[in-house]
Amino acid sequence: MKSEIRKDYIQEKYVIIAPQRGRRPHDVALNNHHSQAKTCPFDSDHPKHPNGIYCFTEKGYGVCPADKNQSWKIKVVSNKYPAVTLDNPKAYGQQEVVIETAQHNQKFEDLPAEHIADLLKVYAARTIEITKNDKIEYIIIFKNQGTGAGASLEHSHSQIFATDFIPPHLIDKSQRTQRYKLEHGACVYCDVINKEQNGPRLIYKDSYVIAFCPYASLHNYEAWIMPLRHLDNITLLNDQERLAWAEVFKKLTKKLAKIGLDYNYYFHQVVNDEDQHFYVKVTPRGSIWAGVEIGSGVVINPVSPEDAAEYYRG
Ligand SMILES: [Zn+2]
Ligand SMILES: [Zn+2]
Repeated sequence: MKSEIRKDYIQEKYVIIAPQRGRRPHDVALNNHHSQAKTCPFDSDHPKHPNGIYCFTEKGYGVCPADKNQSWKIKVVSNKYPAVTLDNPKAYGQQEVVIETAQHNQKFEDLPAEHIADLLKVYAARTIEITKNDKIEYIIIFKNQGTGAGASLEHSHSQIFATDFIPPHLIDKSQRTQRYKLEHGACVYCDVINKEQNGPRLIYKDSYVIAFCPYASLHNYEAWIMPLRHLDNITLLNDQERLAWAEVFKKLTKKLAKIGLDYNYYFHQVVNDEDQHFYVKVTPRGSIWAGVEIGSGVVINPVSPEDAAEYYRG
């Protein structure tokens, strides 16, 4: 395939898909992750293990056990080094950490699907709680997996970041989505699903969710997961959708682990904007953006999304 400039479905984002440029699709260096079990504050027996804000335990969802050594499956704690806080009007917001498992060496991709479905339920519960605060305008739930993706602790965890500030590119995206709806009478992402579900970039589809590599993937092996129903945020997913989502999450992250790729995932959602169709982006961190990317904003991706989808499907 010759290089090709591609534009995002709706945003002014461009990428040059350039498969001949570099490494073969699956030839990516393996990262070495060293275990830090003895110094991990996410382990219940660590002296500085934090008290939980919200827990999922054998008994169900909600209050954390009073005794912090008591067993839990998923625990939400305050971020110890927050960039935004509720008492700072100059950088207002709230940050939480979701410890995804009590087991230090448990890898995300190996968690049972039911456990990941429970994690999605915890994300939803925190989203509902945090957005009770009227000042919060934006909430992003994300995961940094591996040092190459910004993680500083190895123990499987994700984060919630909520502020009173909506990033401008999301306002722009929201306006473009609304314009598209006026012109075409439909949600742009519902149309994207229709387009991608029978094409070469499809990874997986069942009755509830779809996963595909986006046409203008900025990251190699970038993948999106979307609910088939038009939903604007994670709190609206039902049990079946959560379980289907969890299966896809496992499928994708197992494939990434196999080629040693660190990744981020994040839920793209603007709460209270029904025109939005929410989704998760999984963005592996296989290449370091260099001069072209930093200087021009145009990204060069050496793995075509068609090849990436084939890898995920295989
Ligand atoms: Zn740990
Ligand atoms: Zn939609």
